Amino acid sequence: MSGKVLVLPGDGIGVEVVPVALTVMSKVAKDAGIDLHFEEGLIGGVAIDRSGTPLPEATLNAARSADIVLFGGVGGPKWDHLPMSGRPERGLLRLRAELGLFANLRPALLFAPLAAASSLKPELVADLDILILRELTGGIYFGEPRGVREENGEKVGFNTDIYREHEIERIARVAFQLAERRNRRVCSVDKANVLEVTQFWRDVVTRVHQEEFAHIELSHMYVDNAGMQLVRAPKQFDVIVTGNMFGDILSDVAAMLTGSLGMLPSASLGATGHGLFEPVHGTAPDIAGKNFANPLATILSAAMAFRYTLNAGACADQIERAVGRVLADGVRTRDIAGDSRNVVGTREMGEAVLAAL
Ligand code: NAD
Repeated sequence: MSGKVLVLPGDGIGVEVVPVALTVMSKVAKDAGIDLHFEEGLIGGVAIDRSGTPLPEATLNAARSADIVLFGGVGGPKWDHLPMSGRPERGLLRLRAELGLFANLRPALLFAPLAAASSLKPELVADLDILILRELTGGIYFGEPRGVREENGEKVGFNTDIYREHEIERIARVAFQLAERRNRRVCSVDKANVLEVTQFWRDVVTRVHQEEFAHIELSHMYVDNAGMQLVRAPKQFDVIVTGNMFGDILSDVAAMLTGSLGMLPSASLGATGHGLFEPVHGTAPDIAGKNFANPLATILSAAMAFRYTLNAGACADQIERAVGRVLADGVRTRDIAGDSRNVVGTREMGEAVLAAL
């Protein structure tokens, strides 16, 4: 087996956590006889500084021919003054759209030793294992028209929340297929009582369910209730499927259930199984360059690349077990330190995972 990996560290702590995840990925691939070819590219603020654009053509072309893109994060105060269309974050949004990465998988899995780090009571989150599936290339983040205009002498800001039928059908199918491999329950989250576009979302999800996946349990929930239920009784969920903006928000809520943004991996998949794998967190400018960042979210993202793109589930299991062992041994970065006396830096956490493999 072989695969091409495009490595895009980006900005801030991206340049600290991605190299650590790469060492883990290389070792696991080598041990499993998987021939991975790595190439590095520019994206985000660093790409703006060097080439004037957040997503250079060379990066886009390399990403198109890669099986896996391992991504760190983009953005930071240095580029916040730029107009919205030229910001580092635009590079990532465009990359996701150009690669057709419509399905964003965000697992919220609580490693038992971290139950105390959660913002909820341990009994509410012990053994938590939910998967939030966010539609990633449609909805209000991409809808046109958008902008700020003058109306009757006053400025008006506007965006458009729009979903086409095929976009809802394909994300619904991914949700049901993922549920087939888990606990066979899907909760579709919308705001159908207020927004026509999400009533349409609900209708299409219901039809796909009836026609193709009647053996899976489907429920619907309004997004405000879903936010409440995630912090009240999160274990009631198995797979949550929702649109771009609601998914963005709910997955960060789920992040806190697991104790730290630094623990949350994600995968964004396209139709052919190629994908972009990245931590849920951003570039953490407040701790960048200090060797403080938790690399586990990125390491766990690399595990998802083995599972979902390379179909090497055993390699993914191996990485996740190693992370579990390191946490059980009390090794912690600052963000998940609790009362541990074994607080280590980014690189040292990577070494501990390598040793535990
Ligand atoms: P953030 O995720 O970067 O940081 C939020 C908080 O969590 C900070 O206190 C940070 O120190 C902490 N944190 C995040 N990751 C951590 C890790 N691995 N280990 C330890 N602590 C960690 O979110 P933000 O502060 O809202 O955004 C900072 C910058 O990142 C902004 O420029 C934003 O646009 C960008 N951003 C990029 C992405 C992306 O590229 N996918 C996602 C979110 C934010």
